[in-house]
Amino acid sequence: MPALPPDPHRLPPAGEWFASDAAHHLLDKPKFCPGCAASLDRGLITEWWSATDRIFLTWCAECHWSGNVVLFDRAIIEEPEH
Ligand SMILES: [Zn+2]
Repeated sequence: MPALPPDPHRLPPAGEWFASDAAHHLLDKPKFCPGCAASLDRGLITEWWSATDRIFLTWCAECHWSGNVVLFDRAIIEEPEH
C-alpha cells in the first residue's frame, strides 16, 4: 500500500477489522467535486459497496452538488458509429 496522505480523522488501529477499508477509503475517495472542481476537503464522502463496485456518496460544500462516484473494475461501453 502506498504512503497514506494526512487525514483529519484518525484511522482505526491497524488490527481492527475495518482498518484496511478505512485506509483504502482515504486513498481512493474523490478529492475534487465532479460539478465545480472545488476541493472536497469540506464536503462529505461516504463509501459503500455493491458487489465489486465501490460507491462514494459525495456532497460538495462549495456548490452543494451531491451524487455517487463509482469505482469499478470493468465496464461495457458502446460507441455510436462515427
Ligand atoms: Zn462543487
